[in-house]
Amino acid sequence: MECLFCKIINREIPAEIVHEDDQVVAFEDINPQAPTHLLIIPRQHIATLNDLEEGDAALVGRLQLTAARLARERGFAEEGYRVVMNCNDQGGQTVYHIHMHLMGGRRFTWPAG
Ligand code: IMP
Repeated sequence: MECLFCKIINREIPAEIVHEDDQVVAFEDINPQAPTHLLIIPRQHIATLNDLEEGDAALVGRLQLTAARLARERGFAEEGYRVVMNCNDQGGQTVYHIHMHLMGGRRFTWPAG
């Protein structure tokens, strides 16, 4: 299995895991772009957002609910935060296992770069 994030899920490479349940794992981004920068991923290997199927709707919801809960736990839910999912090369995706970025602790600008 070559997927980096599957290896993190399987503890084959180290990561600062901050949450895990039967469907979802969250860990610290190795190159943080904010005071808090977490990645929230499904245990199931799904390469890109384009590979999602109807049956994955609840799983995607679980990613977002986990992000919102982690934002509350980290204390920046009320002041605000950014969640991002990049898709394919032009969208900025570099790891081909879907992931939600949760970034908080600073002000973000719009439009995204
Ligand atoms: P993408 O560019 O949206 O695909 O995001 C991939 C993210 O994975 C980037 O923010 C990277 O910093 C992060 N990343 C890459 N390798 C590792 C790792 O081994 N541990 C934790 N985060 C990683």
